[in-house]
Amino acid sequence: MVRAMIGLEIHVQLTEAGTKLFCNCRSDYRGLEANENVCPVCLGLPGALPVPSRRAIVLALAVSKALDCKAPEYMVFTRKHYFYPDLPKNYQITQYEKVGGAPVCEGGVLTYIDTDDWELKRLRIRRINLEEDPGRTIYPEGDITRSEKALVDYNRSGVPLLEIVTEPDIRTPREARSAIEYLLLVLEYIGATNPRLEGAFRVDANISVEGGERVEVKNIGSVVDVEKALRYELLRQESIVKGGGRVRRETRHWDSVRGVTKPLRYKETEEEYLYFPDPDLPPIKLTRDMMAEASKLASTLPVGVFNDIARLGVPRDIAWSIVSVRYASQLFMESVKLGGSPQILARIIGIDYKGELREKGLDPYDASNWPPPTILKELSILVEKGEYTYDTIKGIVIPALAENPGASLEQVLPEKAVDVSSVVEQVLREESKAVEDYKSGNKKALNYLIGSVIRRIGKKAVDPRAIREELLKRLES
Ligand code: ADP
Ligand code: MG
Ligand code: ZN
Repeated sequence: MVRAMIGLEIHVQLTEAGTKLFCNCRSDYRGLEANENVCPVCLGLPGALPVPSRRAIVLALAVSKALDCKAPEYMVFTRKHYFYPDLPKNYQITQYEKVGGAPVCEGGVLTYIDTDDWELKRLRIRRINLEEDPGRTIYPEGDITRSEKALVDYNRSGVPLLEIVTEPDIRTPREARSAIEYLLLVLEYIGATNPRLEGAFRVDANISVEGGERVEVKNIGSVVDVEKALRYELLRQESIVKGGGRVRRETRHWDSVRGVTKPLRYKETEEEYLYFPDPDLPPIKLTRDMMAEASKLASTLPVGVFNDIARLGVPRDIAWSIVSVRYASQLFMESVKLGGSPQILARIIGIDYKGELREKGLDPYDASNWPPPTILKELSILVEKGEYTYDTIKGIVIPALAENPGASLEQVLPEKAVDVSSVVEQVLREESKAVEDYKSGNKKALNYLIGSVIRRIGKKAVDPRAIREELLKRLES
């Protein structure tokens, strides 16, 4: 196989920032009517001035921290000029790595778990820019070539966006997928992004094979599609090389319906953008407070939690299943701290409860779908002590809790299976008079003994015939 080099540009919205980057409109605009989440600033009206969001800056710094980046002393925002209807100011406020600029991160590294081979891998981060997302252009008849008109929705205009650019350290499409999945999880642990929101991230994937130039596949909307697009591109480039051809520098687009990449016409060159520092936004000194907040947000990262869980003896795939749902990993850790059994908790949380939620169409990322850690701890101990089998927990208790996560243990635990024979044995030992009566021919004493067993078992439903049989078996032997 030909050696491949893959580098990524990942655009991720800070969906959890609360507001847009330079105004008080919402960072999560989903479910709104078109052009409802707008104001003079994000519409680029004359005279409107941007006010930077402290929260967005702290979140960007936290991501930078999590990726071991060198943070700048000042936040510097730069104008990048181009004309497009969804960019109302005709420039995008972004950051710039060259003269006069300063990205929020330069020279970092993402240490991620490749869930394919469970190796810890390093992906160098070239830089991260904090910028504003443009609005959205909608072609009512499907695409630009078929539509009579275009509509513009500015709800997204100004949403804080990170552009994360990696070095070309990735070797396979599968690695690319693991790296992006892990990166998104880091952003989720920080509390910066909910990557499951529609349009929360987009990826430009660059790939080259030995002897060829790089091809950039633009605007891929899902992690699975990144892997597919890269696989397709790898095969396409390999066959060009095998046929004696040369792969030229090109920008392509991923057609997820047909599963192919197609050429795009052109790539703007950098000069056209006319970058310069935004005069409306003087450099912002990054305070010690901001850095401390960022460090705190970046203090719990998925690799660390994964290692903690694996160290408790939990198999890697189950540990990963827990870590991949941030709330599940908190729940697991709390239940263990309360004294629960790590192995059994891992099975409940990482496999069967999560699976039950999925089966019921419930969201495992929603904390309100999970029972409290006290209940989970108790369940694990009941199994550990042998009071209930794991099958009972899985078959009866987990489905009941998924139905009603606020239920008490009494509400969801089935009555314990009664061990009839041990009660019978006890009765025969203690009721020696009745036993003697029976043996000397008083057959009515049997009814008394049956009654005695039923009294001890309590009101629980037991079959009197089973008790009778058990008694006779022992009396006759
Ligand atoms: P530009 O500055 O022109 O946008 P860069 O060289 O900075 O281009 O690279 C942009 C992206 O392409 C980065 O993610 C980088 O990792 C990736 N890349 C660069 N060279 C290669 C290559 N030979 N093969 C695959 N990806 C590459
Ligand atoms: Mg870019
Ligand atoms: Zn606004």
